[in-house]
Amino acid sequence: MKKRIKIDGLPFETFISEEEIKREVRRVADELRNDLEGKSPFFVCVLNGAFIFAADLIREAGFNDSVITFVRYKSYDGTSSTGNVKQLVGLNEDIEGKDIVIIEDIVDTGITANLMVNDLKKRNPASIRFVTLLHKPESSKTGFKPDYVAFTIPPKFIVGYGLDLDGKARNLKDIYINV
Ligand code: IMP
Ligand code: MG
Repeated sequence: MKKRIKIDGLPFETFISEEEIKREVRRVADELRNDLEGKSPFFVCVLNGAFIFAADLIREAGFNDSVITFVRYKSYDGTSSTGNVKQLVGLNEDIEGKDIVIIEDIVDTGITANLMVNDLKKRNPASIRFVTLLHKPESSKTGFKPDYVAFTIPPKFIVGYGLDLDGKARNLKDIYINV
């Protein structure tokens, strides 16, 4: 049974359940653990949207000596991308020689992802991997391809599990789609 809710007057219904999210988070965590065996990943969580995904993913991945830090970008206003990405909080740490794993909530146009990867590359890390909870390949304006994707979805607006509508609905345990 689909649950229906309204946020700021917009109708949403359940799209990905908490159980499906848990299953795919575990799958991605397993892939990371395999691919980064013997390394000490330096996770970079992209605020605000990725905070819940990152919390679950890094605990599931279970590295003994991983580090997590946070950056903040903003590109969305309401339910559409402004195409204009603002960096609100940058990275202060030295990442030279580190194995970076960027954790993002969603890759939509790919503009934020592209900007961030190019930015971090200039600081000479050993490697950069890009993990996203959700990918909307049909919205791509950059051809950006994340290395790890939990769910590939159609180009519709979604909320929950960290994703918001003007700051609301991040606390929902399931992911909801605008209908
Ligand atoms: P991009 O630069 O267009 O790829 O946008 C990425 C950012 O836009 C994500 O990190 C989200 O914060 C936001 N975003 C994109 N699509 C959605 C959505 O469907 N719901 C909520 N936020 C979204
Ligand atoms: Mg985001």
